[in-house]
Amino acid sequence: MIRRVASSDPLQIRFWGTRGSTCASGPRFVEFGGHTPCVEVRCGKRLFVVDAGTGLSALGAELGQTAPEEIDLLLSHLHLDHISGLPFFKPALLSSNRLIRTYCGNLDGESAQAALERLYRPPLFPIRLGQLPANFEHHGFKAGDTLTFPDGATVETHPLNHPGGATGYRFRHEGRSACYISDIEHSDPWPDPALAEFVRGADLMIYDGMFSDAEYDNCRGWGHSTWQKGVELAKRAGVKTLAIFHLYPGHDDAFLNAAEAEMQKVMPSSFFARERQSVSFAPERGQAVAEQAKPAKVPAV
Ligand SMILES: [Zn+2]
Ligand SMILES: [Zn+2]
Repeated sequence: MIRRVASSDPLQIRFWGTRGSTCASGPRFVEFGGHTPCVEVRCGKRLFVVDAGTGLSALGAELGQTAPEEIDLLLSHLHLDHISGLPFFKPALLSSNRLIRTYCGNLDGESAQAALERLYRPPLFPIRLGQLPANFEHHGFKAGDTLTFPDGATVETHPLNHPGGATGYRFRHEGRSACYISDIEHSDPWPDPALAEFVRGADLMIYDGMFSDAEYDNCRGWGHSTWQKGVELAKRAGVKTLAIFHLYPGHDDAFLNAAEAEMQKVMPSSFFARERQSVSFAPERGQAVAEQAKPAKVPAV
């Protein structure tokens, strides 16, 4: 039997990659960053990693020798922008005792193993994941299941409307909760009642706002949504803080700052996620604090 011990450690989220589809780089893309999706979720000291985009290499460099011996990597789906950091994750290169478990929920219960083995092998990649020092274990589930981990931790999941499917996640810690809802295209009518129920009352919802409503007509059917639809969902579901995510690589810092200012007129507790930004929610009655991490040089990996 697992006893839950109350802690004063917060629920903490840190963004390591916020771009979608492909990276961005150059002087106009400094504030919001260039890496593709990767989010660190800390339920107290317990680490979850969501998605393995190029941001995973930066997270791995930060974790370095302090990385846990067992790491749970929750994948929204297997499109390249969500897995291309996987073989560059430093903790997988440092220890032969380390176990990295991947979880994938959009393949009808199949794990990511077969797909990753097709990609990470010559001639597409010089080595296979199995040749890295760490051990990988690949788990499949059906989006909608609740995941239970070996230490008793649980994470809820939800299917998302995206080509080939994608999985949303909800993390809970000491009365706080955070949802990861990317990649998704909104439905008509909107908000989708089942999704609204899934994210209801969350302290934070990370949402695919790749486009604006003005751009959406040209991007219909691409599997992505708009910040305006994120606001509609957040308001309907009583979500307290909204982080717009999966940012379009063509939207530079000036564009995103202007869109953020427009969004904050209708939802003041919303923002566009910046690479390396941390958001922290103290247990129970504590106050939520969102702070922008200072820009730092990304170590070479
Ligand atoms: Zn994507
Ligand atoms: Zn995708």
